[in-house]
Amino acid sequence: MLFPTTLAGSLPKPGWLAETHKLWPKWRQEGAELARAKRDATLLWLKIQEDAGIDCVTEGEQSRQHFVHGFVEYVDGIDTEHKVTMGIRNNRYEAVVPQVVAPLKLRGRAHEAEAKLMRKHTKRQIRITLPGPMTIMDTVKDAHYGDRVKTAMAFADLLNAEARALEKDGVDVVQFDEPAFNAYTEEAAGWGIEALHRALDGLTCKTAVHICYGYGIKANIDWKLSLGSEWRQYEAFFPALAKSRVDQVALECMHSRVPPSLMALLAGKEVIVGAIDVATDLIETPEEIADMVDDVLKYVPKDKLILGTNCGLAPLDCDVAMAKLEALGKGAALARRRHA
Ligand code: ZN
Repeated sequence: MLFPTTLAGSLPKPGWLAETHKLWPKWRQEGAELARAKRDATLLWLKIQEDAGIDCVTEGEQSRQHFVHGFVEYVDGIDTEHKVTMGIRNNRYEAVVPQVVAPLKLRGRAHEAEAKLMRKHTKRQIRITLPGPMTIMDTVKDAHYGDRVKTAMAFADLLNAEARALEKDGVDVVQFDEPAFNAYTEEAAGWGIEALHRALDGLTCKTAVHICYGYGIKANIDWKLSLGSEWRQYEAFFPALAKSRVDQVALECMHSRVPPSLMALLAGKEVIVGAIDVATDLIETPEEIADMVDDVLKYVPKDKLILGTNCGLAPLDCDVAMAKLEALGKGAALARRRHA
C-alpha cells in the first residue's frame, strides 16, 4: 500500500491522567491508580489511531512525562535532586536539567509495559520512540564525563540495550528523536550519526530517526521566525544520514519553510514526511495533505514515502489531536486515490 501513515511520537494526555496542554505535566494519580490510568490512556489512543487509519501506531508517550526524561528517569548516575539551569539546543532556550554525576547505568526497563500492552492489543505495526543520544546529552548537565561526545556515547549504549529489548517485545519500529540535530548540524553529520549507530546497533527491526523544529512552543516559534524564508538545516546532515544504517527519516514539512527539494538528499531512505502541523489548532484538510504529497513526490519515490506528523502532538487539546489524526488518515487515502 502506498503512503502508509504513522506519528512522530507523543499524543496529548487525557485530563484524568495528567495536566493538559503541558510538555512536562504533573500526573493526576499515584501508584497502582497511575499505572492503570496510563494503561487506559494508551488503549484509548490505540483505538483512536486505528479508527483514524493510522498504519503504524504508537503509545503516544502516555506513560512518560517528557520525551527525554521518560527515559532518563530509568538511568542511574543522574542526580535529579540538584537540577541546574542550562541553555539547551545551542542556547535556543533555558531548561532546568538534572546532572550526570557518575557512570551511567540502566535501571531495569524503560518502556517494556507500553510495548507489551500495544503488542497484545493491536494487530497494526507498533512504533516506540526513544530520545536520541545527542538530544539526551543536550538535555542534561554533564558533571562526570567531561566531554559531550563521551556522554552521548554512554547514553547510546543504554538506549541500545532498551531498543534491543523493545524489539524482543514485538516492536516493529524503534525511533530515535534527535531534534538536537537541527541545533548542531555539523556535529550531527559527524558524531551525532555515530552515536545513533551505536544506539541502533544489532537491531533487525526497522529503525527511524525523527528530526524536527520542535514542539509548537513559543521558544521554537520565535526561533523559526529567525531562520529566514528557507530552513536549510537538514541540508548539512541529510547526505550523511542517507549513507547511515537508519531505515527511516522523519522530518517536518506541513506549513514549514523546509524546501521539499532537501528530501532528495535522503536517497535510499524511507521518508516520513510531516503532514500535520503541531503548532496550530487548525485541522489540515485531506486536499492540503494530498497536495503536499504531490509536491514531495518530485523528490521522494512513492514507495519510500510515509506520512506522519511534524512532531509530537502532546501539548495540543485531545479533541484537536483526534481531528488531526483523522485528517492524516483521510489525506493519505486521498493521495492513494490520486496516485493509484
Ligand atoms: Zn519532534
